[in-house]
Amino acid sequence: MEVPFFELKSQYQQIKPDIDHAIQDVFESGNFIRGEKVAAFENEFAKTIGTRHCIGVGNGTDALFLILNAYGIGAGDEVITPAFSWISSSETISQCGARPVFADIDPDYYTLDPVAVEKKITPRTKAIIVVHLYGQSANMDVLLTLCKKYGLKLIEDCAQSHLSKYKNKIVGSIGDAAAFSFYPTKNLGAYGDAGCITTNDDSIVESIRRFANHGALLKDDHTIEGINSRLDELQAAILSVKLKYLTGWTQDRVGHANQYFEKLKNQENIVLPKIQDNTAHSFHLFVIQSKEREALKLFLEKCGILTAIHYPKALHNLIAYHHLIHPSEEFPASNTLENTVLSLPIYPGLSSQQIEFVCEKIQTFYSGN
Ligand SMILES: *Cc1c(COP(=O)(O)O)cnc(C)c1O
Repeated sequence: MEVPFFELKSQYQQIKPDIDHAIQDVFESGNFIRGEKVAAFENEFAKTIGTRHCIGVGNGTDALFLILNAYGIGAGDEVITPAFSWISSSETISQCGARPVFADIDPDYYTLDPVAVEKKITPRTKAIIVVHLYGQSANMDVLLTLCKKYGLKLIEDCAQSHLSKYKNKIVGSIGDAAAFSFYPTKNLGAYGDAGCITTNDDSIVESIRRFANHGALLKDDHTIEGINSRLDELQAAILSVKLKYLTGWTQDRVGHANQYFEKLKNQENIVLPKIQDNTAHSFHLFVIQSKEREALKLFLEKCGILTAIHYPKALHNLIAYHHLIHPSEEFPASNTLENTVLSLPIYPGLSSQQIEFVCEKIQTFYSGN
């Protein structure tokens, strides 16, 4: 049996008539940028997340950059971000001219540890970027309290957490503003790069729309310089089709995760994901920890099972951040994860036989073959 790490072709086959129709519609309209498909998707997505606004942008990384920029974050400012994440949640801080300040993550849930965060707050701190890593919401109440106490903006990175919940609220509606990625392999994926910003903060919407469109809201109305970062009509039309399936696909992921939990619960050589109280995990990734990570990965690969590592280096250990001179001992949880995490295949089209096979092979590996 072959188990790919991720696979998009069967999903396309499932929704082909709808997608093909949506694409044809855009082609025949002759309108590819800033049209009604984008506006329709923005409305649908805002309703889904539970915010007043959604702004389509070019990708999830730009979404983070545009939020930071709209809050006036720049030279001399600091923004606190997890030491363990994808580089977008720190590189966008530097893009604004500000300084990324890493805080360690909780060793059980892999999201920002509020105690570590508070220690990093200085008079220069302007915001916190919280990443709902792997699809699990961070501890938002504690972070909101911290932000209130110190007057900071709370920016959610929801690139891995479409439809994840914290206390009955969908993430992306809890902080001041949130960034979503629709990279093809994300839980809601376009057929190319795409992203959006959700927010209830009326004060930043117009300036983000302007900045992301060369500084112009209307044609030729350039009051400032900006950048070009827009969701296009084709991707918006595709996303509107896929959005209808997102709840079902998320339930499929949760079902797959439950099968992994059941089949692996007695395997004491690995650490299974832990689910924080009052949250609903959307299982963008199913990440286990193993001290024998490299050998296990290789063994599974020989059995036809592909896995991945998210991520092989904590951010503070990347060459890109050597100049920040963060003492590595400050990040024990992140340092552990880079050596132990292994992402097992999880996506809606995965079959229960495939999951069974993955679990069997993990058991075989630990029983000494
Ligand atoms: C994918 C991802 C992003 C960036 O999204 P792009 O659309 O690829 O720019 C940002 N943050 C996290 C945590 C991600 O996983």
